[in-house]
Amino acid sequence: MKISVSDIRETSGLTKDVNLEITDPLDELVLAGPVKVDLRVQSGGDASFNVRGNVCAQVKLVCSRCAREYVEEVKASVEERFVPAGSEELVDNEEVEVGDLCVFGYENDELEIDELARENLIASLPYRPLCCEDCRGICPVCGQNLNEKVCKCETSEPDVDPRWGDLKKFSVDSPQK
Ligand SMILES: [Zn+2]
Ligand SMILES: [Zn+2]
Repeated sequence: MKISVSDIRETSGLTKDVNLEITDPLDELVLAGPVKVDLRVQSGGDASFNVRGNVCAQVKLVCSRCAREYVEEVKASVEERFVPAGSEELVDNEEVEVGDLCVFGYENDELEIDELARENLIASLPYRPLCCEDCRGICPVCGQNLNEKVCKCETSEPDVDPRWGDLKKFSVDSPQK
């Protein structure tokens, strides 16, 4: 998806608001719907542009506890910069990161925003995806997804924190007064 900027390029401070949806697939993301893009492009007057706003998508993720696939809304706030291809701000004409800001190259008075949306969404993915806050995970014995059904396995106090184990013994063994 491309945004034409020929109309604001010459004058510093001119802005252009962009509200659109990306329906093309984005690498490394499994999308459950279009990516909603809500950006303001501001001209630097020197053929550079600052781009700010939000990107939002329904992304299919795999729960880190129960391995179930689910859909989560991922939102990213965007603040990036575009400079003409060949600019010395770029390295080998590829995008560069300057702190939190990413500098992208552009050509033909058009900003390509798919890559910008993709990178910002990936950076905003949850570190440990969870299908729901109280996901019960999988039985370590039989593999049953405990959100769907409770199994009858004797898991005899699995993964008990040793400190709790000691505490329990203590309370049982202590003499009653
Ligand atoms: Zn889960
Ligand atoms: Zn089980």
